[in-house]
Amino acid sequence: MPARILDGTKIAHDIRSEVAAEVKAMAAAGVRPGLAVVLVGHNPASEIYVRGKVKACEEVGLYSEQHTPPETATTAELLTLVEDLNRRDEIDGILVQLPLPPQVDSKRVLMAVDPAKDVDGFHPVNVGFLSTQRPGLVPCTPAGVIEILKRSGIPIAGQEAVVVGRSDIVGKPAAMLLINANATVTVCHSKTHDLPGVCRRADILVAAIGRAGMITRDFVKPGATVIDVGMNKVTEPAEFQRLFARGLADNAKREETFHAKGWTLVGDVHPQVAEVAGALTPVPGGVGPLTIAMLMYNTVKAAKLRRFSG
Ligand code: NDP
Repeated sequence: MPARILDGTKIAHDIRSEVAAEVKAMAAAGVRPGLAVVLVGHNPASEIYVRGKVKACEEVGLYSEQHTPPETATTAELLTLVEDLNRRDEIDGILVQLPLPPQVDSKRVLMAVDPAKDVDGFHPVNVGFLSTQRPGLVPCTPAGVIEILKRSGIPIAGQEAVVVGRSDIVGKPAAMLLINANATVTVCHSKTHDLPGVCRRADILVAAIGRAGMITRDFVKPGATVIDVGMNKVTEPAEFQRLFARGLADNAKREETFHAKGWTLVGDVHPQVAEVAGALTPVPGGVGPLTIAMLMYNTVKAAKLRRFSG
């Protein structure tokens, strides 16, 4: 039986509706949570992401503003901007869109964001809160992974979870969230021996690698839940053939789009995994939509923690 497809678009829509209801309730108390997005220079991919984030803010009723320093911005100039946003009471969340230009000390800029406004959850203070299970801001994409599992009724407690990838923004926080949800967690990376064998232990397999279709069906225990965080642009016809020569029913549509646009978005999980997995997130339409939904959620959470508690 083919895998159950976990619909990230629908789950993200549900979360955004819940956030919009909270924003409405907060408006009754005279509070409108606000997000400031800092976009340095003209990276086309970053511009698309930021546009999506600002549009989502409007849809759920959040206040948002964009700051667009030039490509030549210095570390000192960005620190001044961040400090100004830290001081402003109507700003609850600050998001510095990565990557920053090479002359900028990115770590210093990210460290300057007030942890209470760090809606990306990257600040070491929030990393510490997550690992010690204190209230704080959790990175959006890994938080989205957990939402998909929970809202799809997939049990986590007591399950064997394997996370492939150990980045600070996806793999490590995803592993930490799974530990906090009582899974038994293994984290894999490029030096892991017998990766397919380790992955086959998983009841829940999370792929956050950045390699199109690397997780093939021999990595997956029959019936396992597979969460595909990867977002890879495939442009080579041979690579397209490797992934889509035989597999899901939507291949014809994919092929049409690939030929029309010259590329297609593919996860880290090979489409044929759908033949062995019990449940699977698609790409696109799986984890991706959750990332922006959780950013909206985090902005409201930051507003509540900062304005209404303690
Ligand atoms: P990074 O490049 O920071 O990390 C990749 C991880 O994968 C590293 O830990 C690396 O190991 C590991 N890895 C690489 N090659 C192999 C291999 N052959 N075998 C085993 N492990 C390997 O990537 P990110 O964590 O930032 O992103 C991962 C993917 O998720 C990307 O495709 C990215 O586009 C996507 N993404 C999607 C988001 C969304 O909204 N859906 C948001 C963020 C990311 P090592 O540490 O040893 O180098």
